[in-house]
Amino acid sequence: MVKEFLAGAAAALLVFALLMDFNITPFLLLAGIAALAYWMIVKKGMLPTTIGGKSYTPLEKISFNSIGGQDTAITELKEAMEFMLRSKEIRAMGIRPLKGILLSGPPGTGKTLLAKAAAAYTDAVFLETSGSEFIEMYAGVGAQRVRSLFSRAREMAKQQHKKRAIIFIDELEVLGGKRGSHSSHLEYDQTLNQLLVEMDGLKTDSEVQILIIGATNRADLLDQALLRPGRFDRQVRVDLPDREGRLAILKLHTANKPLAAEVDLDMIARETFGFSGAHLESVTNEAAILALREKSPLITQKHLSEAVDKVMLGEKLGRKPSQEELYRLAIHEAGHAVVGEVLRPRSITRVTITSRGQALGYTRQKPEHDIYLYTREYLESQIDICLGGAVAETLIFGGRSTGSLNDFKEAIRLARVIITSGLSELGVIAEENLPPGQMHKASSAIITKEEKKVTELLKPYQQALGELAQQLLEKETVTGQELRSVLERQSIAS
Ligand code: ATP
Repeated sequence: MVKEFLAGAAAALLVFALLMDFNITPFLLLAGIAALAYWMIVKKGMLPTTIGGKSYTPLEKISFNSIGGQDTAITELKEAMEFMLRSKEIRAMGIRPLKGILLSGPPGTGKTLLAKAAAAYTDAVFLETSGSEFIEMYAGVGAQRVRSLFSRAREMAKQQHKKRAIIFIDELEVLGGKRGSHSSHLEYDQTLNQLLVEMDGLKTDSEVQILIIGATNRADLLDQALLRPGRFDRQVRVDLPDREGRLAILKLHTANKPLAAEVDLDMIARETFGFSGAHLESVTNEAAILALREKSPLITQKHLSEAVDKVMLGEKLGRKPSQEELYRLAIHEAGHAVVGEVLRPRSITRVTITSRGQALGYTRQKPEHDIYLYTREYLESQIDICLGGAVAETLIFGGRSTGSLNDFKEAIRLARVIITSGLSELGVIAEENLPPGQMHKASSAIITKEEKKVTELLKPYQQALGELAQQLLEKETVTGQELRSVLERQSIAS
């Protein structure tokens, strides 16, 4: 009604201006620009739109092909998408619609990407929001936001002539946590109740089919009502990628970058066990920044390797330890590296005394393959590598320093893993039933035994420790290959 009135008034004004011999070209131009902007924003959804004061960015074209290492999640998600695509058949069979899918897994594994790809796959409009955006101090505001989110989804789909809408709610546990568990629980409960009401109202025969995709790192915190059939009844795990997955992600994120021919992405994938997709994207980005800083036209293996250090440990620190401290640090790192290389040949890839984040120096190991199950022998050798630094300091300087604090914490943690997994002499135990002091006694016994073992192991390598420390002082970083050359020279000499 208002639109028609405005259009009529504008037309009348133009006719009047023409009759009065007025130059109307600038007005026509302005009106054209305004109409184009309206068409782009509202009809095509090319600019962010607003819901309840929050900005929602419409879908960039993300397909399942631009997501690496999540093959199982993609297959499950595609299967679920068939519910949306074949809604007529689903209705004919009397199957109830799929209303919600829950993506659960660690941060940065690609949950948002998967939801966006699902929207592209089903040609649905995509609205993205986060659980925390619904929670306010005032009761009723969150519930109102949930209502307007659903009506906005319908509106946007109609405007863009689409039959489907996907609402993506990140951090679902904030909005959908167990009811009654929050201090201001009235507001939380009302918001969650409203979401349940909206979900219950979704039907297959509505003009616009709506699907909610929730994402969480803590599925255990969700209210059971959300997980019951008819709500988020499909759960898809989005786990950290395995080695092949990491390689696929690295390939995706380096496709637009100039890589040197020598670059071995598989090697980087091996070294990055435990990295998420977001970490790996960051590695490729940091490597490109390093190359740019060095004015190198190509990204080399060295840039990628340094980028892994940066993502793992943080930015290089400006602080410069004294020469004496640096020598101790070099001996300490050489100790870790020699123990690692002797126990697991060819496993050390890099030793450095460059300080980053919390670490003064760092020795990087490359596992043969991703490991999910550990034997006692493996855990003991990992303890040995942790103790290698302190033992090397004792052998060379006659005493150790505070530099081993974190190594000891890690060694004790590993010893406790041996005990609680039933791999120690105590047999299968329940930690809470152990007499006081027993855990300490048992873990100390493991550490003391391993310390003796490492001392015997390192004694014959004192010359190699000195040579490696010297190289570290000169170059700050020694590669696995250089480490192996030092060890080979020593074994030839002896
Ligand atoms: P959060 O739980 O923190 O919200 P998320 O699981 O939703 O994280 P995304 O936002 O999808 O993670 O990923 C962040 C970025 O990390 C992506 O934009 C992408 O660059 C990269 N990334 C993460 N996972 C993958 C993957 N599997 N394949 C390719 N890139 C990925």
